[in-house]
Amino acid sequence: MAEKIARQRKPEQAPQVRRTNFLEVAGNYSPEQARLEAGRCLQCKNPACVSGCPVGVQIPQFIQQIKDGAFARAYEIIRADNYLPAVCGRVCPQETQCEGRCVLGKKGEPVAIGNLERFAADWAAVNTAAETREFAFPRASRAQSAAKIAVVGSGPSGLTCAAELNAAGFDVTVFEALHELGGVLAYGIPEFRLPKEIVRREIENLSAAGVRFETNAVIGKIRTIDELLQDFAAVYIASGAGFPSFMNITGEDLNGVYSANEYLTRLNLMKAYQSGADTPVLKGQNVAVIGGGNVALDAARSALRLGATQVYLIYRRSRAEMPARREEIQHAEEEGLKFLFLHNPVQYLGDEKGFVQKALLQKMTLGEPDASGRRRPVPETGSEYELAVDTVIVAVGTQANPILKDTTPDLPTDKRGYIIIDENGRTAKKSVWAGGDIASGAATVILAMGSGKRAAKSIGKYVRSA
Ligand code: FAD
Ligand code: SF4
Ligand code: SF4
Repeated sequence: MAEKIARQRKPEQAPQVRRTNFLEVAGNYSPEQARLEAGRCLQCKNPACVSGCPVGVQIPQFIQQIKDGAFARAYEIIRADNYLPAVCGRVCPQETQCEGRCVLGKKGEPVAIGNLERFAADWAAVNTAAETREFAFPRASRAQSAAKIAVVGSGPSGLTCAAELNAAGFDVTVFEALHELGGVLAYGIPEFRLPKEIVRREIENLSAAGVRFETNAVIGKIRTIDELLQDFAAVYIASGAGFPSFMNITGEDLNGVYSANEYLTRLNLMKAYQSGADTPVLKGQNVAVIGGGNVALDAARSALRLGATQVYLIYRRSRAEMPARREEIQHAEEEGLKFLFLHNPVQYLGDEKGFVQKALLQKMTLGEPDASGRRRPVPETGSEYELAVDTVIVAVGTQANPILKDTTPDLPTDKRGYIIIDENGRTAKKSVWAGGDIASGAATVILAMGSGKRAAKSIGKYVRSA
């Protein structure tokens, strides 16, 4: 019986070893393991797993190919719906998406769809010709007169939209504010979860396929959207939601208090973990990270790797409500992160030089469910106590950066600053589309990619008929 085969585990660095380095935590399946895992799939006639995937990857079909040892074909099937399987196999929250719907999960462990997707992508990267991989579409036979389209932001949404439009024969330029391409894949998710080599490989493929990239190009500063529209037939805005939120409590302005965004950017893009880096980061011994999502865990596990003695993850709800990927929570626990559930900071206290010294924490209990459906944390009066810390990293969410809204007065946004779009990603401003986190609010890589794909179809139709 297929169900008798146990779910295959990826090889992993031992927790005590990996907490001292930034190398990827988990390795890949061997071909034998991949085929065994693929053999667990029941090849359901109405596969529930597919309905859990935001881009509808043909899951049983690619798994069957892996089972048969046809790894290149498995990869082609995935890539027809998902341009970044090496990324998604690693970072999709599978437990709430594809694997969360797998029938095997009802009585045991679901098929490891994410691991199999990663296996196929990593196998293809080594064993197939570059032009058949990921973003490497056959070079579009682009006419001299091909319409020009601008994409603002090089995260997963912008890259996907650019890839689709390039493949359709348009002349695409991606404008990126930072000096490195990839959005959160480059500046946010750390190397130990997503090696930057993978992101660079995809971007090189895309560039080789004809997409132009301009880095250090902050749209809204160097050129406005209206100025872009003088040269481009359409604009796709995929500028993400990378503007950090704080809790607005006393002491957040002390030295040693960072937003997770700043902390991770210094680490990932500016190599703050290397000695002699231009933009160093404080290597705290007692670090408090506030939040319970992937961002909080990435910051906390990075602090551990920088040599902290104790890293506290302070989360105002309980473990059951943590929005982070389950695998990351488990990895973080194994690495020795100390979880303080049902806790919230109410103030930070500093020394005479203005450096953070203590966090004043308050205990919480869970009340009735709130609008998100999760039980509301309620403060326990009189429960405050002090925790000695020398670094605090705030990871309580992000918002839309106001720069494009402020420089494009007729671009409709909601009250939180997110761009309002229709089901095809189109805004009410002529020739302007938007998608990814700047329209949805902070979400996931695969949702951002899905919206880039939908918008590309709509833009292509519009530009051709104009
Ligand atoms: P982004 O990836 O944010 O890219 C936007 C790009 O636009 C950036 O490069 C930015 O510099 C650029 N930009 C902004 N303004 C301008 C401008 N004015 N001009 C030019 N360029 C501009 N999701 C998962 O599915 N799984 C995970 O495990 C996961 N972990 C995460 C960990 C961290 C630390 C973070 C921060 C997020 C994580 N996410 C995860 C969420 C996911 O990364 C995002 O939902 C996704 O990257 C959104 O894609 P995007 O293309 O819309 O925006
Ligand atoms: Fe699952 Fe993500 Fe792959 Fe879809 S893209 S099948 S959600 S891992
Ligand atoms: Fe295979 Fe599970 Fe999908 Fe069924 S639901 S096809 S068992 S992965």
